[in-house]
Amino acid sequence: MAAGEVVLVSEPLACVSCAFGAIPAPEELAQAIRDTPYTPAQRAALLVLYSGQDEDGDEQAGGGATDGTTDGTADVRRVTEDELDEWRLFGIVGCNSFGEEFNDFASTAARAAAAGGASPGPAHAAHAAPTTDDSPSSSSGGSGGSDQRQPQQPQRQQAGHLGLWPSFSMLNHSDLPNAVNYVVADRMLVLASRSIPRGSEVMINYLGRGSLRPVEERQAALAEGYQFSCDCARCTAELLCGCAGTDGGGGGSGSGAGSFAEGVQALLGRCEERAQVLSGLNLPPTAADPAAESGNTGEASARASSNLEVLERLFVQARDDVRVLDELVGRQPLDAAAAAAAGANGGTGGGTAVRQWLRASGFDLLSQHVALAEALGRWEDAGAALEQQLGVCEAVAPSSDLHMYLQVKRLSLSQQAEGPDGATARVELQRCAGVLRGRYGQDCTDETVGRLLQGAVYGLSQVMV
Ligand SMILES: [Zn+2]
Repeated sequence: MAAGEVVLVSEPLACVSCAFGAIPAPEELAQAIRDTPYTPAQRAALLVLYSGQDEDGDEQAGGGATDGTTDGTADVRRVTEDELDEWRLFGIVGCNSFGEEFNDFASTAARAAAAGGASPGPAHAAHAAPTTDDSPSSSSGGSGGSDQRQPQQPQRQQAGHLGLWPSFSMLNHSDLPNAVNYVVADRMLVLASRSIPRGSEVMINYLGRGSLRPVEERQAALAEGYQFSCDCARCTAELLCGCAGTDGGGGGSGSGAGSFAEGVQALLGRCEERAQVLSGLNLPPTAADPAAESGNTGEASARASSNLEVLERLFVQARDDVRVLDELVGRQPLDAAAAAAAGANGGTGGGTAVRQWLRASGFDLLSQHVALAEALGRWEDAGAALEQQLGVCEAVAPSSDLHMYLQVKRLSLSQQAEGPDGATARVELQRCAGVLRGRYGQDCTDETVGRLLQGAVYGLSQVMV
């Protein structure tokens, strides 16, 4: 199966929503499950989720059976307390539900545009739109510049949601997933994010952004939330490096002494300290600054310049720490790690891939580096740092929402630097199209990709990346 192909479309047994920026409480989903009349097949699917096993064969939990379409209206009723007591119900919700703080912006925008023909995104998305702006089809298709200048329609309501998709719940986890999932309307879609050889397992990521933390934290989260330990290639390689002290003890320059795990923890600790300093700053220094509002511009500008000094200092520290991370990664016995990884679940990476897997554990540091460069208007530094993030993301989370947003951000930075028609901006536009097609299907037309891109640009303005 090739990247971008649909693996699964799953209908929910229940799905509840709440305001944008939050996820509904598990109790709400449990109540919705209690309140919904189910067919016998759907009730059976619920019980399979509790046991984790399908006694009657694979088809029981499959999408076709759980749809309940073959049952007609016979015996459609709510589950009883006897069939599913409180303990089991919360066990099902705890281990199988999937929640997000917002709908997938890109697909929501594309659907809204397809349904109503309205401009799917707000005005500031305009400069990022369509893909092949020099092709005859896009200039005659009406999806380009003229459309974007129409009065903006409100987007379909963005909402947080929590749901139970039984066939989707059967997929297992890997820190190197080969599939990506997102919700469209109330359906859960799963698409291949890498090519998946026949006979190998489709794996998704249970940890979301948590998959970009050190292996010890990932394993702890999986043990607590799902009662298993992951033996994927990335975990295997990272654990091997974590156990090994860095070689060449004589060459230790202080920060590099000890294991890989200790080194990464130290770096992430310093990253967190800088985040604390940043949260204490009165940023950004804008007209909303109380001193500026009261006309005391002297005080405001003094504060702005002292903020700038702090930002500059933090930026230099973060940049130096990224170098330390690279050195730390470079010192690992990669051949052994790659060999171990090759024998583990999903291991296909050579040394280069293993390096990116290791770097992924320090992803928060890379993010901070980008954010500080952006805050200082160091666009070239920001672009280079973003490129590092993208490299990691392509290795461990291709076609994820994070991958999409980082690529859109990269496009936006290059457009700021050299205008939308610059050579780099054009390259980044094509890379965006590639990521969007990997995520939403290779057969997306240029027009659809343009819509998706507008939605992604809008989404980037709404969420922290
Ligand atoms: Zn793993």
